[in-house]
Amino acid sequence: MHRRTFIQNTVFTFGALTLAQKNLLSSFFVDPWKITMLTNDIGIFSEKGGTIAFLLSKKGIVVVDSQFPEQSKHLIDELKKKSEKPFSLLINTHHHGDHSSGNISFKGIVDHVLAHENSLKNQKNVAVANKSEDKQLYPDQTYTDTWCQKFGKENICLHYFGAGHTNGDSFVHFQHANIVHCGDLVFNRRHPYVDRAAGANMKNWMQVLDKALNKFDAKTKYVFGHAGAGYEVTGKADELNKFRDYLGSVLKFAESEIKAGKTKEELLKTTIIPGGEEWKTDGIQRPLTAAWEELTLK
Ligand SMILES: [Zn+2]
Ligand SMILES: [Zn+2]
Repeated sequence: MHRRTFIQNTVFTFGALTLAQKNLLSSFFVDPWKITMLTNDIGIFSEKGGTIAFLLSKKGIVVVDSQFPEQSKHLIDELKKKSEKPFSLLINTHHHGDHSSGNISFKGIVDHVLAHENSLKNQKNVAVANKSEDKQLYPDQTYTDTWCQKFGKENICLHYFGAGHTNGDSFVHFQHANIVHCGDLVFNRRHPYVDRAAGANMKNWMQVLDKALNKFDAKTKYVFGHAGAGYEVTGKADELNKFRDYLGSVLKFAESEIKAGKTKEELLKTTIIPGGEEWKTDGIQRPLTAAWEELTLK
């Protein structure tokens, strides 16, 4: 039966189905996730949470970030169709749940989990506070400044340039392909979450982005943790420059409002959007709150 005919014949009874049945029926037609190959062996996976990247090497599969348990199961099933190799390494760009709570789906099937040492500390702190330690698969390997390892023809390097979105964010560089996963160090035209409780610092974040722009080159392709509606989760140096300038605009705006004697509440009610037209979306209160705290609290 053709899909359209099937839908037409089914539409009258669709309302009578349970939610589980509807989900099952929908799943026959549209996968809730999307896989985009960037090269022959490196791709990205998007469903719910921070963008995932993966490498299908002859030595084994490497995955960067894991979204949530259900999403990482989808990813694992799809990658098993693409490769018969084992899962060698799971990397977390940082500890946030939309990047690491899917780790648990890799339990028993991945050789190692790797993150910056502060990312591991942050993940543990949050899990202990939320009493969710049984739902975690923690990194068994950590690093401090730089970490590199070869996987077939690809060489993967992690770089830590200091506190930004948290105090434990890595850039993950696939050197041969010249692709860098930025995790949440870059929100492409989307107001970022600034996790001050986990050591985030907006001023330093700008320097972290400058270090990345110096380290990588004009041909580097970047993968972003998140993007605003209508924008891509991949891009070039231009997006890093734009995001750094946006962080600067938010800080500068908050500073001038503080100097003008405005209260925090007045600042958050502003209709002026620092960063310009491209940032006219919901959520400016998050970075403005962080900027206010960074500039006024010691
Ligand atoms: Zn995220
Ligand atoms: Zn994050």
